[in-house]
Amino acid sequence: VTVNVGVIGTGMIGQDHVRRLTHVLSGARVAAVTDMDADRARAVADGVPGVRVHDSGQDLITDPEVDAVVVTSWGPTHEEYVLAGIAAGKQVFCEKPLATTRQACDRILDAETAAGRRLVSVGFMRRYDEQYRAMKEIVTSGQIGPPLLMHAAHRNPAVPDSFTSEMIINDSAVHDIDVARWMFDQEIAAIRVLTPRTSSKARPGFHDPLLVLLEMADGVLVDVEASANAGFAYDIRGEVVCEDGTVELSESAGVVVKRVGTHSGRVPANWQERFARAFDAEFQAWIDAVTAGGTTGPSAWDGYAATVVCDTGLAALRSGNREPVVLRERPALYDKEA
Ligand code: NAP
Repeated sequence: VTVNVGVIGTGMIGQDHVRRLTHVLSGARVAAVTDMDADRARAVADGVPGVRVHDSGQDLITDPEVDAVVVTSWGPTHEEYVLAGIAAGKQVFCEKPLATTRQACDRILDAETAAGRRLVSVGFMRRYDEQYRAMKEIVTSGQIGPPLLMHAAHRNPAVPDSFTSEMIINDSAVHDIDVARWMFDQEIAAIRVLTPRTSSKARPGFHDPLLVLLEMADGVLVDVEASANAGFAYDIRGEVVCEDGTVELSESAGVVVKRVGTHSGRVPANWQERFARAFDAEFQAWIDAVTAGGTTGPSAWDGYAATVVCDTGLAALRSGNREPVVLRERPALYDKEA
């Protein structure tokens, strides 16, 4: 069986997912694409045999030849396409964020709950990274005791001029927020955002780095150093401190080079390099689940919670205070993994 996938939004990550679905993974093909920029959609379609180009996301979703939908357009457009996918009864993989406001995420939860089955998966690919998975296995096994703290760092080498302090929370720290919820199997109760001395590499008025403090429901504390202009590389760090030991992400290079007086290894240049295999694993798992008639991975609830925590984080950045995270009651549809 081949899942015929329609891709809405053929920008940077959309093109990468088209490549992945066409050349790397099994059980799926790209059947249709669309983009606000029709020339870009046609250029991407040129590289894929038998693909249709649609004028709009809505047309793509209702195309009978499209079995499942991937949403990789700009964040504020996600809600419309996810809702249309649910209305069409098709499985939807939505890149993060699920939607950019709490209200939009609410509408998606309401629609999926009314449909009565899970149709939405959100692209928090770190859950598929081998190192994070190994870390979670050790924490969950209890072999180093109950967790107390997690230290994390999310260091981007550089960002475009359009990037803002808010985006450090919404686009970077959002991944650490999802990891914290997943690692400790619980919600985030409160968030605080501290602003250290600003890097001279940041634009004026831009707080960079940020120190994001997450309080988990059971009192575990997670600190995330989120840097937009770390300069040297894309550096992702994580360490969970438990009562009887610690577990941390190792360097991702796989080999260490030793020569006179030094030992060294490669640090990834960007998120594409660091998480390439996680994206592959995430999509293969989703294709396999869709083939079997369902979905898998982070749910619309996870997307909702991440957006609410980010929103609360923005309030905390403005106020300088500890801000409690207020979530609606979780619908029973999300009690179990899909
Ligand atoms: P991008 O390069 O700007 O691509 C977005 C594409 O969607 C552009 O081609 C844009 O066209 C198109 N688009 C905008 N509105 C549309 C609409 N209404 N219908 C159809 N297409 C539309 O952005 P990107 O970096 O690929 O990011 C896309 C999404 O992926 C974002 O939500 C982002 O947060 C997410 N993302 C996730 C990760 C991750 O780590 N999981 C990494 C990168 C990105 P125009 O340029 O003509 O507007």
